[in-house]
Amino acid sequence: MSVNPFETSLTTLHEAAELAGVEPNVVKLLEQPKRIFEFTIPLKMDDGRLEIFTAYRVHYCDALGQTKDGTRFVPNLDIDTVKALGFWMTIKHAVAGIPAGGGKGGIRVDPSKLSENELERLTRAYIRKLPMKGVWVDIPGADIGTSAKTQAWMLDELEELQGFHSPAAINDKPAEANGTVLSREATGMGAYFVTKEAVNEFGVPIGARVAIQGFGNVGRVAARLLYDDGYKIVAVGDIYGGIQNMEGINLSELEDYVDQNGKVTGFPGTNAISTADVLEVECDILMPAAVQSVITEQNAYRIKAKLIMECANGPIIPEAEKLLEKRGVAIIPDVLTNCGGAIVCSFERTQGLTDTYWDEETVSLKLKERIVKAYKETSETAGRSEVSFRDAAWMNALMKIQKAMKVRGWV
Ligand code: NAD
Repeated sequence: MSVNPFETSLTTLHEAAELAGVEPNVVKLLEQPKRIFEFTIPLKMDDGRLEIFTAYRVHYCDALGQTKDGTRFVPNLDIDTVKALGFWMTIKHAVAGIPAGGGKGGIRVDPSKLSENELERLTRAYIRKLPMKGVWVDIPGADIGTSAKTQAWMLDELEELQGFHSPAAINDKPAEANGTVLSREATGMGAYFVTKEAVNEFGVPIGARVAIQGFGNVGRVAARLLYDDGYKIVAVGDIYGGIQNMEGINLSELEDYVDQNGKVTGFPGTNAISTADVLEVECDILMPAAVQSVITEQNAYRIKAKLIMECANGPIIPEAEKLLEKRGVAIIPDVLTNCGGAIVCSFERTQGLTDTYWDEETVSLKLKERIVKAYKETSETAGRSEVSFRDAAWMNALMKIQKAMKVRGWV
């Protein structure tokens, strides 16, 4: 069953808006993006062919500040996905107390089929053709298919167009191009800080068993930090398959193995399982850190974890969430668990604007402070209103957005 992510985001909006008593006009404004740009990028390929790519940028809501966030280069990109992601960023920024709105964009392209030259020309053309941009308007960051390298090209192109340096206008750049340290690690670190809070609240003991689906930027960093704290990593999966060892996987050896082989499968001393089986192993904490919609009505009843940390965006479909909640499984939602990347992106903009660049200790401390505050606010609302953490996070975000819309005279 294919799930329309924008419809999912509207379902959560309506549920949380009703619980929080959000005014109907605020809901009306949030039911669609403020601006949608769709444009084509004609590109002369290395072999002389002309290819035309479809590109998007959505400014979902800028009540709390200029819009910002990722740029996705994937072959199946569609406007509903971009709208949903822009909406989620609006909520994520509000949850994390970041003075920014939500934006998202991308190009329908398979970047693995482009030469380095083609990718650079396409990325630069995307920035040239964006109708509205700049540090006080909208700040594109990286997402699937883009990286620190594409972000450096975006910054360079934008600065050429403007005729002056503007390091705060593009996010996720390398530290050498006025970026921030810990940009790549931020989301996994944030997920770790949030997990530590949730573990305390839900009484999961230190040393408990953890299963992680996805061993990339997010899953790998979170796994390392939990492992260093004494948690037992019992299963890990990636796109190629999964591995399991109920005695605990030696993470340092697994990291070396993945660096050499590019995948977790075949790691000595573990049983081979499927990547879907990783979700169902006997464990205390489950971290879906790969892709969306992996927990559905079909597998929800087989999940054994007592605590699910949504590291990926939208890994649990709403119907499955209801089944898990009935069984008393605690779910810490994506907009809270994975907002560490958004927080450090906001630090990146602040550093660029002030031309002052922070060290790792400063970024890490500020990230922890900000994300733990977001956790505590969410937990407090969940307890007071007797709602799920997802509803609580959205309720708090919607109330912040409503206040901003009111003082601006929008509603
Ligand atoms: P990544 O590309 O670095 O790693 C993704 C991991 O998931 C890899 O191990 C890959 O093999 C695995 N994977 C991919 N498709 C899979 C599939 N169909 N089944 C099982 N495993 C699969 O990505 P990342 O940056 O670690 O992001 C992971 C998730 O977190 C994504 O959903 C992303 O949208 C979300 N997220 C990332 C950030 C960030 O800053 N990186 C921020 C917020 C949310």
